[in-house]
Amino acid sequence: SREWHLVARPQGWPKPEDFALREAPVAEPREGEILVRNTHMSVDPYMRGRMNDVKSYVPPFQLDQPMDGGAVGEVVASRAEGFAPGDHVLHGLGWREYAVVDAKRTVKVDPEAAQLSAYLGVLGMPGMTAYAGLLEVGSFKEGDAVFVSGAAGAVGSQVGQIAKLKGASRVIGSAGSDEKVRILTEEYGFDAAFNYKDGPVLEQLKAAAPDGIDVYFENVGGEHLEAALTVLNPHGRITLCGLIAQYNATEPPPGPRNIAQILAKRLRMQGMIVSDHDALRPQFFKEVGGWLRSGELKYRETVVSGIENAPDAFLGLLRGENTGKMIVAF
Ligand code: NDP
Repeated sequence: SREWHLVARPQGWPKPEDFALREAPVAEPREGEILVRNTHMSVDPYMRGRMNDVKSYVPPFQLDQPMDGGAVGEVVASRAEGFAPGDHVLHGLGWREYAVVDAKRTVKVDPEAAQLSAYLGVLGMPGMTAYAGLLEVGSFKEGDAVFVSGAAGAVGSQVGQIAKLKGASRVIGSAGSDEKVRILTEEYGFDAAFNYKDGPVLEQLKAAAPDGIDVYFENVGGEHLEAALTVLNPHGRITLCGLIAQYNATEPPPGPRNIAQILAKRLRMQGMIVSDHDALRPQFFKEVGGWLRSGELKYRETVVSGIENAPDAFLGLLRGENTGKMIVAF
């Protein structure tokens, strides 16, 4: 079985030589374990942080060890009650063809209810991030105007649509290409969208949000955060979900120069980690599952084929080559 190892800690942008695809024997499952043949794995922005040797909310990848992350696959052998060959499961041992997983850290998924890759995206961790980050962390309420950056990505595209479905007065998104901007307004129903590469974010955001914004869902950082602070209405809220513009930075980025806006407008900015919000999961499945079935909520995936291309898919994600969830299919 092949598996990806991190072999060097990247400085700045990761390079292909920082990764190695290695052969490893397929282990036998022990009592309470399941052998899974992975069919899809996730590449996610947070994995960049795990390539650094720093203490954070998830431990760093170890050099010369298999990397891990979200994956779905088919059970090949089981020594755990409730799991049988042919079942489909979601678990945390991606970046490899075969995984021996602890049944307690594995959930069964229904391939009839949604395509398997959806459990890594719209019905998985990014979908939960959007749902909890907007409703719980951002304290969204009907009538709010919402701005989301990274809006054509896995999380951002769900944030904007959920806001619309929950009665936002206006939803604005930013993304890095004209085609993504078109998808936001024409397919996902955003009221306005702009390409942040076209000109200053502040000017474009002001034009798109003439009455200001009440919630900013932050995926990017830097210039986007400063622009949002200026355009937020009094008592506005910021969900600090991600700061992807700085994940490959080699120098600490400057703070928002207009931080006084937080004081003057009594803004609230709160960081989030999706795993804190597990209590919301049943409600998330019910509500988002319903919107998917009714066709009210749309999603896209960019699928890269072949385990040998997983690092390219990861780098492509950081460069914005994905529209919606970036998936590697084996
Ligand atoms: P996406 O599907 O949004 O993919 C990443 C996107 O980021 C790219 O497609 C690209 O789109 C955009 N991007 C890359 N570099 C820049 C840049 N310099 N400036 C602006 N945009 C950039 O990924 P996810 O939906 O999985 O994640 C989105 C954010 O949410 C990330 O910041 C991630 O870290 C965070 N996150 C946080 C979680 C939490 O618990 N706090 C959980 C899950 C995700 P474009 O073409 O538009 O540039």
